[in-house]
Amino acid sequence: MSKIKAQPGIMDIALYQGGKSHVDGVENILKLSSNENPFGPSDATKDAMVRASHELHRYPSTDHATLRAAIGDVWGLDPERIICGNGSGEVLMMIAQAFAGRGDEVLFTEHGFAMYPIYANANGAKPVVVAEKNRTVDVDALLAACTKKTKVCYIANPANPTGTMIDEAELARLADGLPKGAVLVLDGAYAEYVEGFDGGKALVESRDNVIMTRTFSKIYGLGGLRIGYGYAPKPIIDVLMRIRGPFNLSAPALAAAETAMRDTAHTEKCRTENAKQREWMAAALADMGLPSDPSSANFILVRFASADEAKACNDHLAAQGILVRYVGGYGLPEGLRITVGDEASCRRAVHAIGQFVNPEK
Ligand code: PMP
Repeated sequence: MSKIKAQPGIMDIALYQGGKSHVDGVENILKLSSNENPFGPSDATKDAMVRASHELHRYPSTDHATLRAAIGDVWGLDPERIICGNGSGEVLMMIAQAFAGRGDEVLFTEHGFAMYPIYANANGAKPVVVAEKNRTVDVDALLAACTKKTKVCYIANPANPTGTMIDEAELARLADGLPKGAVLVLDGAYAEYVEGFDGGKALVESRDNVIMTRTFSKIYGLGGLRIGYGYAPKPIIDVLMRIRGPFNLSAPALAAAETAMRDTAHTEKCRTENAKQREWMAAALADMGLPSDPSSANFILVRFASADEAKACNDHLAAQGILVRYVGGYGLPEGLRITVGDEASCRRAVHAIGQFVNPEK
């Protein structure tokens, strides 16, 4: 018998299941299961990454100063309040490490991002799941679930996998109603898809307990490089900086992210095209009797009449190489989450779903 024993909470963690990327024996795969940007990064961003790879024997920057400056310029943020992470996932984990330990509670909502309970359990804190109202964050329910032990509350806005949003006034009410010493984390992994949305910047700047996170994995098309960041009041950044790994971002990733951040024309093109295809896909599926909530992100959550139907459609699509995400594990047994692809991909997915819904046609 092994004497190895993990810390309490660790063995309660269910392994994170990423979106599938292949089906045995099937070619012409269309991956619409991980909310990736179908356009990927721009050529300028790829070139910057390749240039940086000529110096791979050198350690990367440890303070990420040039990337923080680029983010600050583009979004009007104070670079001193930015922390960069190996994906926004690393920043989200650091927040739990820094603020929630044994005996503490971490709040998130019923259909919250699958990693939130993992961040809690990995640090010995108790995950507390709070009900939503119509697949949207319910601030009253969150405030009612708070105790003196509440230390972190994670809210994704737009949310994954529902794609829904809550407004700033509600988030302000949540930030102000949390127990003293607890932090509100506004996970903005999909924030750039929302035209004119600040992702929570104004709340970060007007409160002492709000942190916003962003990622380069979605609209910037750099999921494979692992880059994200957090923006928070300086005292919170001073805490997080102490536990950050000294070289947590590679030099190619830093170079790519800096170029991607400044390439606002590419970002704009991705945002516009995503909105166009998302609205087309949602309308086409609604016409087939498959409703979805209005999505603000780069995916839609389609609802079937039953869990069996959703699973059968998932299998039907997978058999022809179209990979979407069955979200039964997120408490949405009738749902399939479909990433918005480029025009041809959306048409292929909708056509295949149409064949499932109406095989006679
Ligand atoms: N938050 C949400 C809501 C997400 O959907 C994801 C990625 N699926 C992340 C955070 C983490 O993204 P990354 O670590 O790639 O920045």
